Amino acid sequence: MQYDALIVGGGASGLMAACALALRGRRVVLLEKQGRVGRKLLSTGNGRCNLTNLNARVSDYHGSRAAAQAALRAWPPAKVLAFFEALGIPSAADEAGRVYPMSRQAASVLDALRLCCDENGVETLTDFAVAKLERRDGAFEATSADGRAVRAKFALVAAGGLAAPKLGACGDGCRLLEGFGHAIAPRFPAIAALKTPPQAVRGLKGIRAEVEIALLVDGEAVREEAGEVLFGEDGVSGIAAMQLARQANEALRGGRRCEVRLNFMPGVNAEGALRARARKLSKRRMEDFLNGIVPKRLGQALVRAAGLEMAAPAGELAGARLSALARRLNGWTLPVAGTQGFDQAQVTAGGARLKDFDIRCMQSLRCPGLFAAGEVLDVDGDCGGFNLQWAWSSALMAADGIDAALTK
Ligand SMILES: Cc1cc2nc3c(=O)[nH]c(=O)nc-3n(C[C@H](O)[C@H](O)[C@H](O)COP(=O)(O)OP(=O)(O)OC[C@H]3O[C@@H](n4cnc5c(N)ncnc54)[C@H](O)[C@@H]3O)c2cc1C
Repeated sequence: MQYDALIVGGGASGLMAACALALRGRRVVLLEKQGRVGRKLLSTGNGRCNLTNLNARVSDYHGSRAAAQAALRAWPPAKVLAFFEALGIPSAADEAGRVYPMSRQAASVLDALRLCCDENGVETLTDFAVAKLERRDGAFEATSADGRAVRAKFALVAAGGLAAPKLGACGDGCRLLEGFGHAIAPRFPAIAALKTPPQAVRGLKGIRAEVEIALLVDGEAVREEAGEVLFGEDGVSGIAAMQLARQANEALRGGRRCEVRLNFMPGVNAEGALRARARKLSKRRMEDFLNGIVPKRLGQALVRAAGLEMAAPAGELAGARLSALARRLNGWTLPVAGTQGFDQAQVTAGGARLKDFDIRCMQSLRCPGLFAAGEVLDVDGDCGGFNLQWAWSSALMAADGIDAALTK
C-alpha cells in the first residue's frame, strides 16, 4: 500500500503531524525506532509536560530565528493549545506563561496524541528504525534496519536531535536529511548543567542557592538569569544555570574564555551589609559569619575563596579583606570548562540548516515532497515550553504543507 505520508519519528513533532494529517483524512504511517512512541514526551516538564509558553517570542529561540518566527506566526501558542483542546487536553498557564495540561501529566498529552492517531487510522509501526530514506519513482521509500519497506507520496523527517539518547535521540534524522544534500549546522548541547573545575566547587555538592547568575565571555556578561542553582560535584545546574549552556558552548567552541558569576545577594550592596554585620556580630568567627545569608558550607567556601582566616573574629573584618568577601557575595566568579554532554542535556543546538527549506511549510528545497520538523532542524529554544512549541508548530506547518500538496 502506498500512504499519503510517511513520518520518521514518533516523538512530539511526528505524533503531532500524524494527528493533523489523519484528522484531514490523509493516510499516514508513523515509523518509530523504539518499542513505543513518545518516550521523551513522558519525561518533559518533570513528568508534567510544559506544553508551550504564552509569552513565546522569537528572542526565546536560537539557530534559525527566521524559521522560529514563521512557526510562531503560523501556529502561535494559542492556536496550538486550541488544537490540544480539540484533542481533549485543556491546559492552564502559570504566572510565567508556562502552559501545562490541566491533568499536570505528560502521560495524558501522549495518550491524547496516540488515541487521536488510532481513532483516525494512522498506522503506527514501532521498532521500525528507518535506516534508509529514498525518493524513487515519484514516491518516498523508507527502509528499516531489518529490511522492511514503506512507501508514501510525501515524507516527513521528525526524528529529533541528539539530546537524551536514553529516550531515543540519535543522529539518524540529520543523517537521513544529509542523504538528500542537506547541510547540518554543528550540534552541541543546549540546556545542560555548566561544568567548572571540580576544585572550584569542592565540598558544595547538593547545596542550593537563590542567585542572579551571569555568563561572562572574555570577561563580558552576555546573558543573565535569576533563580535557584544547585551545586554538583563539578559544576552548577538548575534552570537558571542550564539556560546559559548554549551560549557557553558556543563561546568555548570559538576558543573564548567562559566564566559564570554568581550574585548571592541580588539587589544588596554586600560591602555595606557586611560592614554592619561585622560590627553587630564582632565575636563571631569567620567560618560562621555568613550563616543565615547563604547555606553554611557555601559561606565557608566564600570566606576561603576571599583568602580569609576561618578562626578570625568578624570584628577584625575591614578594608581590603571586607571588600574581597563582599565581591564574592555579589559576584563569585568561577571558570566554565564546558557543559554536560548530550546524555544529560535537554535540547540540541544545531541541526539541519533552514536555508535548505521553505520555512513557510518546512519543505525541503533540495528534494520537493520531503519535509522536516522539530529538533532535527537548526532551531532550539530556551527552557520554559519553547522547545515543544517549536516541535508542535513546525510539525503543524509541515502537515499543512503536505495536506496542501496532496490537495493540488
Ligand atoms: C528530560 C527532558 C525534559 C524536557 N522538558 C521539556 C518541557 O517541559 N518543555 C519543552 O518545551 N521541551 C522540553 N524538552 C525538550 C523537548 O522534549 C524536545 O525539544 C522535543 O521532544 C523534540 O521533539 P521531536 O519530535 O523533534 O523529537 P523527539 O521527541 O526526540 O522524537 C524523535 C523520535 O524519533 C525517533 N527516531 C529517531 N531516529 C529514528 C529512526 N531512524 N527511525 C525511526 N524513529 C526514529 C526517536 O526514537 C524519537 O521517538 C525536554 C527534553 C528532555 C530530554
